[in-house]
Amino acid sequence: MDNHDFSMENKKYVMNTYTSYPIAMEKGQGAYLWDVNGKKYLDFLSGLAVTNFGHAHSSITKAIKKQSKKLLHTSNLFLIPPQIKLAELIASISFPGRTFFCNSGTEANEAAIKFARLRGNNVDQNKHVIVALYDSFHGRTTGSIKLTGQEKYQKGFEPLISGVRYVKRNDISSLEKEFNQDVCAIFVEGIQGESGINPLTSEFVNKTRELCNKNNALFIFDEIQTGIGRTGKYFSYQYFDVTPDIITLAKGLANGLPIGAMHVKEELKDVFSPGNHASTFGGNPFCTTAACEVINLLKAEKTLEHLNEMSNLLFDKLEELKQKAPKIITEIRGKGLMIAIQIPQFAKEVNKKLLNQGIITNAIGENVLRILPPFIIQPQEADIFINTLEKILIK
Ligand SMILES: *Cc1c(COP(=O)(O)O)cnc(C)c1O
Repeated sequence: MDNHDFSMENKKYVMNTYTSYPIAMEKGQGAYLWDVNGKKYLDFLSGLAVTNFGHAHSSITKAIKKQSKKLLHTSNLFLIPPQIKLAELIASISFPGRTFFCNSGTEANEAAIKFARLRGNNVDQNKHVIVALYDSFHGRTTGSIKLTGQEKYQKGFEPLISGVRYVKRNDISSLEKEFNQDVCAIFVEGIQGESGINPLTSEFVNKTRELCNKNNALFIFDEIQTGIGRTGKYFSYQYFDVTPDIITLAKGLANGLPIGAMHVKEELKDVFSPGNHASTFGGNPFCTTAACEVINLLKAEKTLEHLNEMSNLLFDKLEELKQKAPKIITEIRGKGLMIAIQIPQFAKEVNKKLLNQGIITNAIGENVLRILPPFIIQPQEADIFINTLEKILIK
């Protein structure tokens, strides 16, 4: 079967929820993928910030191979040693606290919604309002879709959960206006990913922390895309002078295996008790073993250093390219290896041309080309990307 055959079969049997490329990947190694027709691709998307350590990483593969021969699942009716270890590792790179495990990003946010509401309702019967930002993305379930401040995702699925207020990113006066004692939590992304890699300002983040303290509300950082090293630090909140009350994680946490997590600070350890929330698969031995290996790799001496070197290299080269084509590239933004290249009107077309030439990127609308390369790229991969992009943009 080749790409075309799979494309036909897909149309026949799989629910039509994705506009997939007519390409079926067969295998990967490091920063590269090969499709069933044998074409090789440089993966500058990492499965949307998931396979951060590249494909078929030797020590992750070794860890999951070993665990698969021992035990995949027991349910949370038993203690799960790699889950306990993973919770300890997450605390070691964030802040002391407790972790709840689930299987995806939207589930992690759903857990945080329930957590914030339960705590709020225990304080006061009106304390159930959640503040979210316009242009955010928090997932697709009926709770998290409501926090996702973009109408296109919500349209047609109403009624969604009630009690959510929206604030414009970095708009301090609207933040102050929407905040009062009825607020139980605010959700933010340090850098809004799905809407085009838009960072929060430190003024806005500091003000949010202040208002949360004043109104006894929880400051929740959705680190699902930005976390686990993606922005050049363990978590995006670490660029600011604040500590959140809760972080939610998923995407890169197990380098491709499904996992989600909600980590809450120590003071909040007693908000949930048995019966409040659960997940059959959540924190199973298999996925948590992979995630432990991911965090060990992340904490290894040179990982973030190398990532930031590659980031600087890409930013420098992209700035150079922007100088050469200032009318075509209008802005480069982002942090670490979460980078947006603003190419007004042509981002989609450029994305398509890159794919034809064997480089996987992503277009957000018509204007933003997004790259999320794996942390293990070398200067050689950066060069391949930049040279190919230059040839496409400057003929
Ligand atoms: C991808 C993403 C989610 C949703 O994660 P899923 O695993 O697809 O449910 C939530 N928040 C952010 C910031 C994301 O990037």
